Amino acid sequence: MSAAISPKLLDLYVIGGGINGTGIANDAAGRGLEVGLCEQADLASATSSASSKLIHGGLRYLEHHQFRLVREALREREVLLRKAPHIVWPLRFILPHQPHLRPAWMIRTGLFLYDHLGKRDSLPGSRRLRLDTTSPLKPEITQGFEYSDCWVDDARLVLLNALQAQQQGAEILVRTRCIEAREENGHWIITLENRDTGHRQIRRAKVLVNATGPWVERFIRGQTQRESRYGIRMIQGSHLIVPRLNTDERAYILQNRDGRIVFVLPYQQDFSLIGTTDRRHTGDPDKVAASDEEADYLLEVVNTHFQQQLKRDDIVATFSGVRPLCDDESADPSAMTRDYTLDLDAQSAPLLSVFGGKITTYRKLAEAALAQLHDRLPEMGVPWTATRPLPGGDIGNQHDFATRLVRDYPFLGEARARRYAASYGSLCLTFLEGCRKAEDMGKDFGAGLTQAEVDYLTDHEWAREADDVLWRRTKLGLRLDQAQQQHLAAHIAAHRQVMAA
Ligand SMILES: Cc1cc2nc3c(=O)[nH]c(=O)nc-3n(C[C@H](O)[C@H](O)[C@H](O)COP(=O)(O)OP(=O)(O)OC[C@H]3O[C@@H](n4cnc5c(N)ncnc54)[C@H](O)[C@@H]3O)c2cc1C
Repeated sequence: MSAAISPKLLDLYVIGGGINGTGIANDAAGRGLEVGLCEQADLASATSSASSKLIHGGLRYLEHHQFRLVREALREREVLLRKAPHIVWPLRFILPHQPHLRPAWMIRTGLFLYDHLGKRDSLPGSRRLRLDTTSPLKPEITQGFEYSDCWVDDARLVLLNALQAQQQGAEILVRTRCIEAREENGHWIITLENRDTGHRQIRRAKVLVNATGPWVERFIRGQTQRESRYGIRMIQGSHLIVPRLNTDERAYILQNRDGRIVFVLPYQQDFSLIGTTDRRHTGDPDKVAASDEEADYLLEVVNTHFQQQLKRDDIVATFSGVRPLCDDESADPSAMTRDYTLDLDAQSAPLLSVFGGKITTYRKLAEAALAQLHDRLPEMGVPWTATRPLPGGDIGNQHDFATRLVRDYPFLGEARARRYAASYGSLCLTFLEGCRKAEDMGKDFGAGLTQAEVDYLTDHEWAREADDVLWRRTKLGLRLDQAQQQHLAAHIAAHRQVMAA
């Protein structure tokens, strides 16, 4: 099969459509650079949709003295709340106090640092708490602490960065794998292969960014034939989704006897998200699934704290991902650094590889990456991402926007208006345009998912298969039955054929 040569020399080519790849592509495109990005599967299909979905400083990291990371992450909470008020919102956490696990003075010191290490404009500080009879925790747990962090729709954060990068001129290719990147006359010649058609194409670029997450080390050796200066350790983390455990909107951070912590997070109105685990993964990063042992571990921690007792049968769904952590040779996976390392291999054609990182700090990571590339791409503009909203984020307040949607489109109903506000912000106006009654939104696939929304996701947000819509663009996979999911898959396939014709 021959590969068509692209004559254009791009400034930057990014491999990997997770949060770090799309974050770097977006930042670079906004600085006027010519940018391309390829993702071998769906955007956010790997680690970046399998996180605990927290924009957090990481209270636990203070125990490991990761002050730089915690400070940067705490500051990013306020930045991301402003940039993306549709998909990021404040969350109060309850930390039940059990003196035999961590003494009160230690928790108070940690929370004092947490309140003061980073800049806090809108998020309330921490406080001590008495847990009364309304608490869903066991009656013997009467004391606790309360503090702030934030929630994020991780997969949509990736999507919005890709969308904004595209709006600023970047080319985003999904289902397209980089199979080789070689150096020629000081530039990169990058061979891409479409995984559906096998069609190959070439891109040329001055700088290559390897943002392949868990594949970072394999990519350096396999696709560029260079040596990796850092190793990664893949640490699997799994989550369980169960029917809602608490009626309020607060999250719980539970301490386990082994020193680890487990979150119980309010999820998609009717569910609780429980996670996570830390265990070494050595196989293919694609082949990762929650084991029975992980499920039992998480259920036991929850059952030790909550009045309601959960069994395996209560699990509605699970998901797992692998943290691509820079190998710092720690013996304990929980203690390994969550900070990022950027490795610039500045042989004649520069290769920048991303090791580790958090969803929370993706924007700062992108700025740091571009700062390292400044000498090679001196025409780049100045940093801009701290203040400009992500697409759909120009709504002010999420609740006010949902109220406006109900007023202007009464046929949506409150639940769907709230879902649109929290997933799309003002982007939903694109597919609501011209809709005056429910029928104007076309086919109904169930749970408020209509043809207008699905076609928008296919045409504008790179959705190619039912799972892209059900688990990453939305979380309606939790609500549609199998027949409805098949109906959706058939519609997407037919719609794509019509669009391709
Ligand atoms: C269980 C768990 C919980 C977490 N919780 C949080 C949290 O609450 N808050 C937080 O801030 N962080 C959290 N994290 C960390 C965060 O999720 C990751 O650091 C982040 O998602 C990594 O993003 P990435 O872009 O580097 O990697 P990925 O999201 O894995 O993206 C890499 C992409 O590269 C693509 N790719 C690989 N090879 C190629 C190729 N040859 N060609 C084209 N594409 C390729 C892959 O398909 C993949 O989509 C958590 C992580 C885990 C696992």
